[in-house]
This record gives sequence, structure tokens and C-alpha cells, in this order.
Amino acid sequence: MRHSISIDFDKLRAAMVIEQLIPRNISESKVLEAFRKVPRHEFVPQELRQNAYNDYPLPIGENQTISQPYMVALMTECLKLKGGEKVLEIGTGSGYQAAILGEIAGEVYSVERFKDLADKASKVLSSLGYKNIHIKVGDGTLGWSEFAPYDGIVVTAGAPDIPESLVKQLKDGGSLVIPVDRGGFGQALTLVERIGRTTRASDICACTFVPLVGKEGWPE
Ligand code: SAH
Repeated sequence: MRHSISIDFDKLRAAMVIEQLIPRNISESKVLEAFRKVPRHEFVPQELRQNAYNDYPLPIGENQTISQPYMVALMTECLKLKGGEKVLEIGTGSGYQAAILGEIAGEVYSVERFKDLADKASKVLSSLGYKNIHIKVGDGTLGWSEFAPYDGIVVTAGAPDIPESLVKQLKDGGSLVIPVDRGGFGQALTLVERIGRTTRASDICACTFVPLVGKEGWPE
């Protein structure tokens, strides 16, 4: 007799929040609520679904990855969203981070350089009923000026430097979170806050992201 394996994704998702996020000081209730709700397993390839709620990134095709749940949570928390904001994401990838942002913010704009990843993400997001997430294919190092300025910007790929175009598209008082190269010392997740015409940058933690490739990123 063959046994079919059924996985209780709801249980795994609840455990992810309790074991991976809360002990590492993710504390914003809106962020935790979004993680309890968004079905991460829908954003990973079929054969990796059983690992979707584990404490690490997973491959999603095109040599790209869906980030570790904790890293998505930390970046989201850095934006200090209260609800209703306009947010820009660079690097749609699977669409998971966009979905988390879409649960909290008003409108989410997300740019991806690979068309097939953007198409796949759009499909999953619309099948889950998100109407406030807008995706386009292009070079996200230049931002998405049409809908600027943004209350928050999340870059989910590692940059050589902070792209000037993104800082320009940030509202006064807004936050940009981005992994930035530290020479031989890996990448630092960096929080850039815009205050009038000036900015203040602070390091959050060490991190490892796939490269941000584009005009104000790494060369092809
Ligand atoms: N936020 C994603 C993680 C994606 S990994 C998720 O939740 O799954 C980073 C993504 O950034 C990759 O899909 C990569 O193709 C994309 N990327 C890299 N450089 C880019 C650029 N200049 N513009 C837009 N997307 C870029």
C-alpha cells in the first residue's frame, strides 16, 4: 500500500514564527501577523515545499534565492510600517517578500530583472488575491520613478554601494534597507534614513545576498 504524505503547512508556519522570529527579537505585531498568514510554500518550487518554513534560503531558479524567513522579517521591520504606506522592493524573486509587505503596506511596487521570475511571482500573488502588489521587469537600481516618492524601499540583492536613484525616490522620513558590500568583509545590511536633504546610514548586521546587477549595481 502506498502512503501519501500530507504536510501540515499551517503548523510549520506557526512554528517558524515561534522558533525563528520571536526569539530573534522580531516584535512588531503587524510583521508577525504577516508571517503567520502568507503561505511561503506557495512561493518555492514544488519539490522544495517541505523545506519552505525552514531556517534558510532556498533556490527559486535563475541562480536566485528566496531569502531566509528571519532576513525577510528583519528587513520588513526596519521599515517601521504602520499600514497604508507606499513601498518599493527591488528584486521580486519569488514574490514572498512582496507578499509580506503587501499584508502591511498600502501599495507595493516591485522590480525584477528576470522576466520569468517576475511572471511566476505575479501569477502566485494574483492567485493568492493580492491586488496591491505591482510588478515590473527592469533594472531596479534605477528605482521606479513613476510612483516615487516611497515611504520605504527594500533591496533584496547585494549592492556595491547605495544607489543614488533609490535615495532620491525616498520620502523625507522614509527608510531604505539594503545589503551593501564591505570589501573583503562580506555584506552589511544597511539602513538608510532620509532626513530632509541629508541621510543617516547605520549597519544592522552581516548578511549574504545574491548580487544586485544593474546600472547603479554590479556589472553583468
Ligand atoms: N525578494 C525575493 C528575493 C529575491 S533574490 C524573494 O522574496 O523571493 C534577489 C532578486 O533580485 C533576484 O530575483 C534577482 O534577479 C533580482 N535582482 C538582481 N539585480 C536586480 C536589479 N538590478 N533589478 C531588479 N532585480 C534585480
